[in-house]
Amino acid sequence: MAPKDDKDKGFSWTFTAPQALFDKLDVRKRRTFFPLITENNLVGKLNAASSLSEIGWIAKERNLCDVCDMGGLDIAAAKVIVKCVAHMMYCYPKLRGRFCYVGSYSRYVERLRRLAESDEEVIREFGLQYVWQSEGAGFLGMIARDIGKSTGKGGTLASAICTAGFADALIFDESDYGPAGYRDACKNWEYNLKTGYHPRNCGHATGVVYHEIGHMIDTICSLSANPAILALWRSRGEDRIAAELSRYATVSVSEFIAEAFSEYMSAPYPRLLAHEVAKIIKEAYSKIK
Ligand SMILES: [Zn+2]
Repeated sequence: MAPKDDKDKGFSWTFTAPQALFDKLDVRKRRTFFPLITENNLVGKLNAASSLSEIGWIAKERNLCDVCDMGGLDIAAAKVIVKCVAHMMYCYPKLRGRFCYVGSYSRYVERLRRLAESDEEVIREFGLQYVWQSEGAGFLGMIARDIGKSTGKGGTLASAICTAGFADALIFDESDYGPAGYRDACKNWEYNLKTGYHPRNCGHATGVVYHEIGHMIDTICSLSANPAILALWRSRGEDRIAAELSRYATVSVSEFIAEAFSEYMSAPYPRLLAHEVAKIIKEAYSKIK
């Protein structure tokens, strides 16, 4: 079992376990999002929400994720996060199974610590009863324990966590997304946009959320090893990627994918390179069973 870290790409694990466990995780991963209301209606409910718990409740009730805990985050930031996840679900419903948790980093780490101890309340909250009884589930407990060792605050900004499907997550650091840090974080994102560090229309919280979701899709669809993505990455070269997408996109193939996805989802008029990457993403997504 080995955690893999690539800049802000977050973590993913590979491990060996009885096939029965992987079969159960596969069923879990294949859960699809079924919209119960229109996206506009959902956005309206989020705009009208007056507390973090109400935002979490809307996300859970509309089946955007298994667990949504915005505790410790700024309310405006929480609304941005859930709106992005909602838009994502309406565009890519087959990814629903990988959105086990959306919310604050600290609350996620707290839950994973309890999951490592096989806490029944948290097992139920994540809908893991069936999986947790399976032979080999101890491996999942080890991953949960590993994540539970994190501080839960500071130095993360935002991350996509891929845990083979049992507790995959999109997490946000209270240090940046909490009431004390959010205003400064917004100023930083605006500055990064002006200096070309991040893509067009991605100088705000929305851009970061889609960037992390881009990492998640990368892991799910193995995009960093996709020949079409690699050919595109090599054909453009560093200078053109910086000019046509962003400077941060030159760091690695995975950041290139995340930045392109962020522009594609955030900008009213995404540029050609973002469109080209998005086309490859859509093709890879269409092959997900
Ligand atoms: Zn990244």
